[in-house]
Amino acid sequence: MAFSAELFATTAVRGGLRPDPATGAVLTPIYQSTTYHQQAVGVHKGFTYSRASNPTVSALEAALGALEDTPPAVCFATGMAAISSLFLGVLKAGNHVVVSDVVYGGTVRLFQQILTNFGVEASFVDTANLDAVAQAIRPDTQLVFIETPANPTLKLTDIAAVVKVAHKAGIKVAVDNTFLTPVLQRPLDLGADITLLSTTKYIEGHNSTVGGSIATRDEVLLERLRLVRKTLGCIQSPQESWLTLRGLKTLPLRLQQHSTNAQKVAEWLEQHPKVAHVHFPGLASFPQLALAQTQQALPGGILAFELKGGAEAGIQLMNTVRLCILAENLGAVETLITHPVSMTHGDVPREIRDRTGISDGLVRLSVGLENPADIISDLENALAAIEIGEAKEVETCLAK
Ligand code: PLP
Repeated sequence: MAFSAELFATTAVRGGLRPDPATGAVLTPIYQSTTYHQQAVGVHKGFTYSRASNPTVSALEAALGALEDTPPAVCFATGMAAISSLFLGVLKAGNHVVVSDVVYGGTVRLFQQILTNFGVEASFVDTANLDAVAQAIRPDTQLVFIETPANPTLKLTDIAAVVKVAHKAGIKVAVDNTFLTPVLQRPLDLGADITLLSTTKYIEGHNSTVGGSIATRDEVLLERLRLVRKTLGCIQSPQESWLTLRGLKTLPLRLQQHSTNAQKVAEWLEQHPKVAHVHFPGLASFPQLALAQTQQALPGGILAFELKGGAEAGIQLMNTVRLCILAENLGAVETLITHPVSMTHGDVPREIRDRTGISDGLVRLSVGLENPADIISDLENALAAIEIGEAKEVETCLAK
């Protein structure tokens, strides 16, 4: 069935929300208060201290829960705070996690530089390969954590198939759904136990906040996550939640247009003589197109590509574009161009990068909501200006 933004329009604008009970304000106000008056010892209106909960954050949690078809989500200061809290909430020393071999670089860093000190081990596995997932599961495996489409190569994992393998072994599955959001991909309906979002990206969508959320239908886990958040002190701020609530209302419309624009840019790039390869789940050349068409409502707004000439050419391009903004982040109205190897995935060891196709010259493009003809024209001018030479290692190109 063709995607229509109307499918999620009412839920995105109204889901889980009601006028402020105290004042009638149609939008939940920014409750910028650390603490709350208690009528008597032990008697209060549900809020005691804003590290534990806050009415504006709660409104966003209800809205995200409505979109996920779950109880209210749990919102965190950043996407990484959400990911860290999940692992700290469900793992203990001696546990093992199976993680997609292509994931956001911060997730790799969390395991390799932090959780390893607490006796938690991760295997980075090609979760597109079900045999590899089955073989990686050990008696001490506690969780399978997948990211699909994966940042930055766009590799997909078949969520329902991995869930089947993991559940057979009695193991829960968490999905980082940041690239598509529940509007374009529904991990919980495919059997996953937990979904996680960096709300910094499409959910807020305007490059103005950082935030994260976790949704699940498991009430015990929700309680645990709220305990971890209160203890670590990593709740989202009311100001960020208010901005995120505002962004959320246009999410289906934005995603539809991001995807349309990205399709146009991907098709244009693919036919350019200086482009070696384009990774985008909406292209006929995408190796997992059939899975993209069944698992996702649309291809999404992110693509990655490599130029003939590798890192040297890619870096020249990123230094030459004018409309596309060279920056870390994705999913916002502005088109952002990113060099994963020196930016978002700088802490991923070369061994993993080489094995998973995060090449030195890979360029990630988060296609924004500008006129796609203008985005293409910017890329066209930049490509015309660069010289394609011998491919060199990234270190040589960055040293200049
Ligand atoms: N998950 C994915 C797929 C991401 O791309 C990112 C950040 O780029 C994160 C998680 C982390 O989110 P945040 O930057 O909000 O901490």
